[in-house]
Amino acid sequence: MTERKRRVAYFYDPDVGQYYYGQGHPMKPHRVRMTHSLIMHSGIYNHMDMYVPSKASKEDMCEFHTEDYIEVLENAGADSVQINKQVLGEYNLLDDCPVFDGLFSYNQMASGGTLGCAVKLNQKSHDITINWSGGLHHGKKSEASGFCYVNDIVLGILELLKHHERVLYIDIDVHHGDGVEEAFLTTDRVLTCSFHKFDGAFFPGTGSLENVGHSIGKYYSVNVPLKDGVKDESFEFLFKPIVDRILAIYKPECIVCQCGADSLAHDRLGVFNLSSKGHASCVEYIKSFNIPLMLLGGGGYTIKNVARCWATETAIAVGESLDDHLPLSDYLEYYSPEYEADVFSDPSRKDKNDEAYIQKVLERIMRNLSFIKAPSTGFEARRPDTPDTLVPLLQEEEDGHPVISSPNRPRKQMWKHE
Ligand SMILES: [Zn+2]
Repeated sequence: MTERKRRVAYFYDPDVGQYYYGQGHPMKPHRVRMTHSLIMHSGIYNHMDMYVPSKASKEDMCEFHTEDYIEVLENAGADSVQINKQVLGEYNLLDDCPVFDGLFSYNQMASGGTLGCAVKLNQKSHDITINWSGGLHHGKKSEASGFCYVNDIVLGILELLKHHERVLYIDIDVHHGDGVEEAFLTTDRVLTCSFHKFDGAFFPGTGSLENVGHSIGKYYSVNVPLKDGVKDESFEFLFKPIVDRILAIYKPECIVCQCGADSLAHDRLGVFNLSSKGHASCVEYIKSFNIPLMLLGGGGYTIKNVARCWATETAIAVGESLDDHLPLSDYLEYYSPEYEADVFSDPSRKDKNDEAYIQKVLERIMRNLSFIKAPSTGFEARRPDTPDTLVPLLQEEEDGHPVISSPNRPRKQMWKHE
């Protein structure tokens, strides 16, 4: 039986590559432009609808964030406004999360794409929606964190909740999806499931096995803490049964997957050892259940590998595959000398997740999952949908102790200047 083709909507703003966090900063929006170039030159774009996202408004952002924080973000990025360091510090707009030119419009674009993804899934016009500029999972209600300012994922899920009773969030970034988990810690309408490195010290420091959610949301936060060097086999050994069990019991009406590519081998900041095939097989597995799906970006700091990974995952979404050798693209020199589409694991790295550890994690999570069900709580008085004002992208343009944000919580840095 041939698999039914999915209707895919892809969001891309041609300006994304022009935003720049500053010299030496590992977060490079240019990687999304590189991904797009591979998608265009490999012909994958022929199999999906492409849109330029509408920019998210301040009101959109304040569905989750505080007004004072969003106002500071807007003003901090404007040339004419000088904001003193103390104020910037209050909102963590220093170091990891610097103020840069166009900061606010960059966030409007990233959040606008994710809102567009949610609108399309709500309208049921598409089965899979993609925004590689989104997935900024560390953003908090009133502060920036880990290179993230506005939490587009939370905004997108809130939009989905206007039409879907239960949303499953899956996060395969090497870092804990703390901002999203925290936003939905006390509800059972969103189940968050994050696979990440955890030792208490690695950024952001949260996401232990004991961290399961609160009150009505207890057991609806699933954390899969892993050690250095995770390879495809051990990741898959946990990923498939956990996702399987969640889908069987929780019966989500749609899924949001944060595809952070810093869990790949050779990442500048990551400590895992996944191949791009292993990473993409997670997306393929989720897709196989045929539940409306949103794919978002996230971390990823060896940018040539990020582009390889997300182009591969776009191909999977539309039911195609990338050739083993990359097509001619605008940034071909990045992929020299092999020009291969795949990212390979490093065979010399030890996977510190031994069988006993993996088994222990799996058993504990399966036990926790036995306490969840598929709640049917009905919709609250529904707020109006975010309007669909999308513009198609023209092909010619190609090119155990939950932590709640509080001012007193010590902040961690994700990256230090070398
Ligand atoms: Zn990350």
